[in-house]
Amino acid sequence: MYRDTLLHIAGEWRQARSGRTIPVLNPATEEVIGKVAHASTDDLDEALEAAEAGFATWRKVSAFERSKLMRKAADIFRSRADEIAKLMTLEQGKPLPEAKMEVLAGADVIDWFAEEARRAYGRVIPARAEGVYQLVVKEPVGPVAAFTPWNFPINQVVRKLSAALATGCSIIVKAPEETPASPAALIQAFLDAGLPKGVVSLVYGVPGEISEYLIAHPVIRKVTFTGSTPVGKLLAALAGKHMKRATMELGGHAPAIVFDDADLDLAARTLAGAKFRNAGQVCVSPTRFLVQDALYEPFVEKFVAAARALKVGSGMEEGTQMGPLAHDRRIPAVDGLVADARKNGAEIHTGGERIGNKGYFYQPTVMTGVPKSARIMNEEPFGPVAMISRFKDFDEVVEEANRLPYGLASYAFTRSAKTANAIAAKVESGMMTINHLGLALPEVPFGGIKDSGYGSEGGTEAIEAYLNTKFVSQAGL
Ligand code: NAD
Repeated sequence: MYRDTLLHIAGEWRQARSGRTIPVLNPATEEVIGKVAHASTDDLDEALEAAEAGFATWRKVSAFERSKLMRKAADIFRSRADEIAKLMTLEQGKPLPEAKMEVLAGADVIDWFAEEARRAYGRVIPARAEGVYQLVVKEPVGPVAAFTPWNFPINQVVRKLSAALATGCSIIVKAPEETPASPAALIQAFLDAGLPKGVVSLVYGVPGEISEYLIAHPVIRKVTFTGSTPVGKLLAALAGKHMKRATMELGGHAPAIVFDDADLDLAARTLAGAKFRNAGQVCVSPTRFLVQDALYEPFVEKFVAAARALKVGSGMEEGTQMGPLAHDRRIPAVDGLVADARKNGAEIHTGGERIGNKGYFYQPTVMTGVPKSARIMNEEPFGPVAMISRFKDFDEVVEEANRLPYGLASYAFTRSAKTANAIAAKVESGMMTINHLGLALPEVPFGGIKDSGYGSEGGTEAIEAYLNTKFVSQAGL
């Protein structure tokens, strides 16, 4: 059922002009399941020309009509959820129900942005002189270059695509080479809904070559990237050099704080679910578990039990709760971090090894006693590894939570409203969720601070990122 993926440029699905392709692997079996076309500069030039023409067409379509088309695309996409989820599991590895949830959530994102498309209001500012109208007008920023990673093949594209289309921008998406078929299915839903030619292009190839070419190109007016902090800094610098608007959704190292007065069962169950979802390959994944003295031991016990109980296997098998890591680079990356922690005195309560030698499976891993100097306490593990530490008081945990340059997500569990308010005020992160998992809905802001990037991919803030503000002052004659 898995198909090869082509480029989509100027309204046409086609091979790269050079004919080059890249193999696509199933991370559960390491088998080649297909190929994806590999774009070079010729293809990018055509995509840029199409994006310029597509922008001229799409910005003239009324917000009302854009919204209708987007909702149609959402319905088409939703109706194909079962089929698209299978493609995603085959190429990315996550359990089929998680893949289906991602597709359905993607359709909700399109719907939400479709509604917001009609509400990109400007404003009128009262003037000092009679007969003067001071207008604030919102205009689409222009053709967008979007770069998205493989952990959420749909989710990472759909937020950028929907915000761009809602505001009247055209977009070139450089989607992940590891997981190309599901983003292609997303684009197809928009084409089937009647999206005019050139408004969206989809390319794959060498990420660094494509980003360097597109970001520097005068047609591109905005850059949006999700991925690691080092790559984000590189692309942000390039965007700065060419004075392009930019949104950077980068890495994290989320603190998950459990206070003495927390609901222990709720905290352990909720956080274990969040940690091992998508095999920990989530930018907002809870990573440093900071547990206050009185609950420390029972929390470790419950968390370890939850990790041991997980059914790890192929995402296509019923009952699988955690699939493989998404590609071969992740095994040495995660293993290296765990080995370094072990060498530095960490106690491994469960996991700590690759599973078998076929497929990129890694054991759900829980460690305690990991020194702050260990690499994994400073670098994003992006894998199924939890480090649990204990703390004594509020000030100590705030200091540890804010120790790293990252500031994406944070988690806290407490029964005290006073503690909840205080911790929300003190932790340096773009998002905090307390006593439940409440991140990443389309209608709420999603983004980080510090080295985790800037800009937002949710809520009205996400729309603003694709709009220019024009001020018009008009005096009647
Ligand atoms: P990586 O840093 O090389 O790549 C991360 C993503 O950025 C990939 O999708 C890749 O295609 C893209 N990329 C890399 N160089 C690029 C460039 N010059 N221009 C444009 N895009 C570029 O590493 P990786 O092995 O793919 O992933 C490992 C790390 O990436 C993880 O440890 C994690 O920190 C980060 N990551 C973060 C997210 C996220 O949701 N924030 C998603 C995937 C990966």
